[in-house]
Amino acid sequence: MPQPDDADTRRAVKPVICYPVETLPQPDMTLYAQARKTLTKTGEVLVPPREAATFAVSAGHFFRITSVEGPQVGDLNLWCRDDLSEKFYSGKTRALHGAHLTTGERMWSGFPHLRPMATITHDTLGWYGIDGFGGSVHDVIGTRCDPYTHALLSDGGQYHHCCHSNLTRAMATSLDVPLAEAEAHVHDVLNVFMCTGFTRDTGQYFMKASPVRPGDYLEFFAEINLMGALSACPGGDCSAEHSSDSAACYPLLVETFAPAQGVLQGWTPPLHNAYDRKHGV
Ligand SMILES: [Zn+2]
Repeated sequence: MPQPDDADTRRAVKPVICYPVETLPQPDMTLYAQARKTLTKTGEVLVPPREAATFAVSAGHFFRITSVEGPQVGDLNLWCRDDLSEKFYSGKTRALHGAHLTTGERMWSGFPHLRPMATITHDTLGWYGIDGFGGSVHDVIGTRCDPYTHALLSDGGQYHHCCHSNLTRAMATSLDVPLAEAEAHVHDVLNVFMCTGFTRDTGQYFMKASPVRPGDYLEFFAEINLMGALSACPGGDCSAEHSSDSAACYPLLVETFAPAQGVLQGWTPPLHNAYDRKHGV
């Protein structure tokens, strides 16, 4: 394509942040910090490698995803436990907070709800920042590894332990519904511990070995009653490939915690979105 005469001038226009977050309702991180000092463990589930597991967290409680045996990436889905049609909206979360999440940022639900489902209250990888390749951890870019893309890129190859399938099986078991019904609940994920970005020269989605080590964890405050599902990605630390059994893969631990009674006095779950849904009619 021939360039217009003013190509450089047009490129030099400064970007504008699409969604300035100054007016976004802010979590009360001081309150959450007080609450997390009083936690009592209420349950745990160990997610086996190349499998997924579901868990429940009550509004006002906490949950933590911990690396236990080796570097491992997890694909997280969240639903409102009282209405599974309200689920995590990765795209809008990305638009609001950027490509990677950390402490103080939130996982938002889709329309028409658009409210915080969970707030990140602690991130032991918060030190990582953005590396020299433009990579960072806990992304809302990647959708989840899935057998359809794998079939597309491998001439019809069949692989059954992609995160999409792991999440589907876990939901089918948990809800006691057929696979096809469970699959419809699975949505784009928060890639816990995954280190990703876009290449500077070609703009392609990349992954690299996760900096996570056993003992690292990502902790959330449940803003509403939650059902969660976490898949221990077949990519392991995602340093080489996924959608196969070739990577070293480790379990992930999900723990739930309750704060002391009264510590969250005055706190209430966020309301559904304020838009009147008339759409101009
Ligand atoms: Zn995966």
